[in-house]
Amino acid sequence: METFLVDQNGYYGEFGGAYIPEILHKCVEELQNTYLEVMRSESFGKEYEQLLRDYAGRPSPLYPAKRLSKKYGCKIYLKREDLNHTGSHKINNTIGQILLARRMGKKRIIAETGAGQHGVATATVCALMDMECIVYMGKTDVERQHVNVEKMKMLGATVIPVTSGNMTLKDATNEAIRDWCCHPADTFYIIGSTVGPHPYPDMVSKLQSVISKEIKKQLTEQEGREHPDYLIACVGGGSNAAGTIYHYIDDTRIQIVLAEAGGKGIETGMTAATIKLGQIGIIHGARTYVIQNEDGQIEEPYSISAGLDYPGIGPIHANLAARKRATVFPINDDEAIAAAYELTQLEGIIPALESAHAIGVLKKLDFKPTDIVVLTVSGRGDKDIETYLNVRFDD
Ligand SMILES: *Cc1c(COP(=O)(O)O)cnc(C)c1O
Repeated sequence: METFLVDQNGYYGEFGGAYIPEILHKCVEELQNTYLEVMRSESFGKEYEQLLRDYAGRPSPLYPAKRLSKKYGCKIYLKREDLNHTGSHKINNTIGQILLARRMGKKRIIAETGAGQHGVATATVCALMDMECIVYMGKTDVERQHVNVEKMKMLGATVIPVTSGNMTLKDATNEAIRDWCCHPADTFYIIGSTVGPHPYPDMVSKLQSVISKEIKKQLTEQEGREHPDYLIACVGGGSNAAGTIYHYIDDTRIQIVLAEAGGKGIETGMTAATIKLGQIGIIHGARTYVIQNEDGQIEEPYSISAGLDYPGIGPIHANLAARKRATVFPINDDEAIAAAYELTQLEGIIPALESAHAIGVLKKLDFKPTDIVVLTVSGRGDKDIETYLNVRFDD
């Protein structure tokens, strides 16, 4: 049977792999050789599950959204990752990676962050585990995301503002990789999404796969069957989407629908619609679609949502799109804002701007009344209130 999961060499079709500097070969190889064995061990499984339950607050509810369902003429369930500790799905991944780091004897944790959400989730688990934490963040983002910077500092992390390039996520990532090259023996690099060299995309999707594991169980309890007709999620690097689809990925009864950030519109140049506009290139150590210019230089992406504003895309999703296993819609800023207001007013749930892109997809699909739709609300909107209040829109 055709599979959309990773192959022996770390590829998804022609996407993925590990394109890294010579100096990192040993530590990436060490991770490749270790992660599966550790993650399959009983001690890891036990500690990971316990922390997900008692610390992160899992399982997250699968909520039947009645008023939203009525509006779209189908049955919509919301997977409530917004209710997790620290406000999104990101904690699932950082808990897992820090447990792995400890089992590999690493002493120092480094991470890159754009909006600061992954930085906060990493600083959180470092406080929990009493580990040194260094977070690289573009200087522009440090200024834009002041509250998250203060949270990371309060949690005991060192935040290093990066002043190269455009001073955003791409530059923070380069700096984190540079740090890793200087300290390969004692440092563990916690990557925040299904991006980076193999094994990161597979490791992060496995850590996020708790989402689809729970959906199967919860849907069976509520609907008497474990598969929905549609799975919908937003994609930045792709981790909440990968977790949402993981246990359903090869089951073609289910339509996978992904929302990427259209920004001000895919024809305006101010966009982060990587799957629609990207060409194959190398970013962050993986072969995938990249928004780049004619010379192969990575272009600065734009989205109103800081978490979707990434010029690459996970190799899993590039492959799903290339092989038409997933349907991808760019959702523009104004559509996401309108969708956030809609969810808030119909269901009393203020979503993160990223998650609002997934809600925005509902308008693009033609549902049958019998369709069961599961949509992941990746995070809560507290961090985005300022943006919601500042943007006027006509519904
Ligand atoms: C970071 C973030 C995203 C985007 O990251 P993925 O890896 O694509 O899931 C989406 N939603 C929220 C709330 C986030 O914090």
